Amino acid sequence: MKPLKPVIVVHGGAGNWHPERVNPGIEGVKKAAKTGFDVMLNGGSALDAVVEAVAVLEDEGVFNAGYGSSLTIEKTVEMEASVMEGKTLRAGAAGLLKDIRNPVRLARIVMEHTDHVFVVGEGAEKLARLFNLERRNPITELRLKYYEQQKRALLEGKFELPKLAELVKNHPEIFDLETVGAVALDKEGNVAAATSTGGFPLKLPGRIGDSPLIGCGTYADNRSGACSATGVGEIAIRLCLAKTVCNYMEGGKTAQEAVEEAIRLVNERMTGIYNSMGLIAVNTRGEIGAAHNSKHLCWAYLTPEMPEPEGALTAKILR
Ligand code: ASP
Repeated sequence: MKPLKPVIVVHGGAGNWHPERVNPGIEGVKKAAKTGFDVMLNGGSALDAVVEAVAVLEDEGVFNAGYGSSLTIEKTVEMEASVMEGKTLRAGAAGLLKDIRNPVRLARIVMEHTDHVFVVGEGAEKLARLFNLERRNPITELRLKYYEQQKRALLEGKFELPKLAELVKNHPEIFDLETVGAVALDKEGNVAAATSTGGFPLKLPGRIGDSPLIGCGTYADNRSGACSATGVGEIAIRLCLAKTVCNYMEGGKTAQEAVEEAIRLVNERMTGIYNSMGLIAVNTRGEIGAAHNSKHLCWAYLTPEMPEPEGALTAKILR
């Protein structure tokens, strides 16, 4: 079968979407899918496409990435992002970013202009200065409002992290996980993935999630496909989830079978903790996949035979 090319899938995060942000969320993922797809139609690579798609989402203000990132327990922002290219297995990531407008662009700089894969904190800030990356205060009124609500609820739960599972069970609406990500297959048959986040709301300063970790939140390999994850970062880290999805695809599963199998694995192995995950994937045949065990997964995709991107708030739900 001839691969369907180019193809892009983007997500705007798993979790519970507040009704007030459903429309902007779906419009945002559709806009990002269209932007990334057009990049590839105009000769850009899958890498260009995922970076531009994620940059759109980082600028929207409705997602937990870039402008509008979640706040740490200390009311600060620490953003992180990663990119990976399937042809060469080159990858780049940046973390603990305070005010870089588009963390995904810094991740790409780490990949293309350093000998490293992951740079955080002061070093990452310095690199951003060297490359004149734009700055923007990522804190929005909406996030400040959520922060106050979340902190109040956390304090009522006695403020201990082991209480988090219980807390979220009683107040699922307070933990919106709206990390963003994109996976694409370009006309040359190369895949790429990118993921960007403000991290888990009320995280401890210094906490790194799955989104910038290659193999956990992001993975791409031309031998299989590409995957971007969203949800509780600690779960994706413990299961190396994005790489696991790619392994399933390399083993012969379709992209949809692979993300479903990975969510089943999450459900089987990650018990007794707050568990909310979402996955998107594309394989080298241009087949796409999206699955989650969270209530929602805001996502969109675009393929050559579609006039416009399709966006939705749920995909295949496996509980
Ligand atoms: N995976 C992200 C993290 O744990 C959160 C999210 O997907 O919204 O940092």
